[in-house]
Amino acid sequence: MKTIKLNKRPVGTPQLSDFKLETEEKPQIKAGEMLLKATYISVDPYLRGRMSDAKSYIAPFELNKAMSSGMIAEVLESNLDNFSKGDFVSGMLEWKEYQSSNGEGLIKVDAHQAPLSAYLGVLGMTGLTAYLGLTEIGKPKAGETVVVSGAAGAVGSIVGQIAKLLGCRVVGIAGSDEKVEQLKSEYAFDEAINYNSTTNMSQAIADACPNGVDVYFDNVGGEISDAVMLNVNRFARIIVCGAISLYNETSVPMGPRVQPILIKNSVLMQGFIVSNYMEKFAEAVPQLAQWLGEGKLKFTETVVEGFENTPQAFIDLFEGKNKGKMIVKI
Ligand code: NDP
Repeated sequence: MKTIKLNKRPVGTPQLSDFKLETEEKPQIKAGEMLLKATYISVDPYLRGRMSDAKSYIAPFELNKAMSSGMIAEVLESNLDNFSKGDFVSGMLEWKEYQSSNGEGLIKVDAHQAPLSAYLGVLGMTGLTAYLGLTEIGKPKAGETVVVSGAAGAVGSIVGQIAKLLGCRVVGIAGSDEKVEQLKSEYAFDEAINYNSTTNMSQAIADACPNGVDVYFDNVGGEISDAVMLNVNRFARIIVCGAISLYNETSVPMGPRVQPILIKNSVLMQGFIVSNYMEKFAEAVPQLAQWLGEGKLKFTETVVEGFENTPQAFIDLFEGKNKGKMIVKI
C-alpha cells in the first residue's frame, strides 16, 4: 500500500520533490484497533506551515514521516466497540491508503446526511472557520458591508454566503473572471473583484463598497489586504484568518504600517485559529447543516482523483486552481 511522506522542507513554493511516495506493508490490527481505508483527503493551505520547521501553533511534520491532514476513511475491520465495519470516520489521519487507529480523535460521519467529502469542507474545518471567524470576531450586523478575500475558496465562499444570510452587503475578492462570475451568480455576492486584472485595488474596493468596509474576512494577506485596509470604517472588524499570499515568502514580507489606520478608525484586528473555538463546534455544525439542508448554503468542490496526486492537489492551491474545497478522492 502507498504512503506519502515529507521528503524535504520546501523553500518558497512547494514542489513535488518535497514529497515522496513510498510503498509499505498494509497494517494488521491488534486488540483495541480498527483498520481504515482512506476515502477522501483534504489538502489545505495551512499544511505549508507544517512543512516548515518554524515555530507555530501546531507542530511541524517530521522529515521522512507520513504527512497528515483531515481525512474521511472507511472502517474495513474493527476490534473497537464504538466503530463497526462499514462506518465512515472523519479526523486527522496519515496520508496512507490503509492505516490502523485506536479511534482517538475520530468521529463517525453520516453519508446519508451529506456527501462524505462535505465533512472536510462546509460541515468540517473550513465551514467552521468561516462561521466562527465571521460570527465570533466579525460580528456582522444587517446592512453592514463585509469584504472577503480568497472569496471563491473553501472558507471564503462560505463566509460570503453566511454574511448574506445575516443581511450584509458582500464583496468578494478572487483571482479570475470565472471565480468572480461564480461569486455573483451562484452565491449572490453583491460585488466581486478579480485582483489579477485590477490595477488599482484600493479604488476597486472603494467603488464596490460605497459605504466603506465594516468587516474584512482576510484569507490572503499581503497587497490585497493592504488595499482593503485603506477602505475600513470606524469600528471595523478584521478577521485575520489566513495569509496564503505570504506563506511561500522566504524573507519577512514588508508592507504599509497599519497602526495609524487601526487607531484612527478604532479597528479591531484579530488573528483567528479555528481550533481555539472547539467548544463552539457543537452549535456551529448543526447551524451549517441546517442552512445546507434548507438550500441556503451551497458549496463547490474541486475533486482530484488518485492518492498519488495529493501533493499536486496541495501545490495547486497556491495557483488558485481550485474552486471551493480542494479534495482528493481515493
Ligand atoms: P482555498 O480554498 O481558499 O484555496 C486557496 C486559495 O487561495 C486559492 O484558490 C487562490 O484563489 C488563493 N490564493 C493562492 N495564492 C494567492 C495569492 N498569492 N494571493 C491571493 N490569493 C491567493 O483555501 P481555504 O479556504 O482552505 O483557506 C483559505 C485561507 O484560510 C488560507 O489562507 C488558510 O490558511 C486559511 N485558513 C485558516 C484557518 C484558521 O483556523 N485560521 C482554517 C482554515 C483555513 P484565487 O484564485 O482567488 O487566487
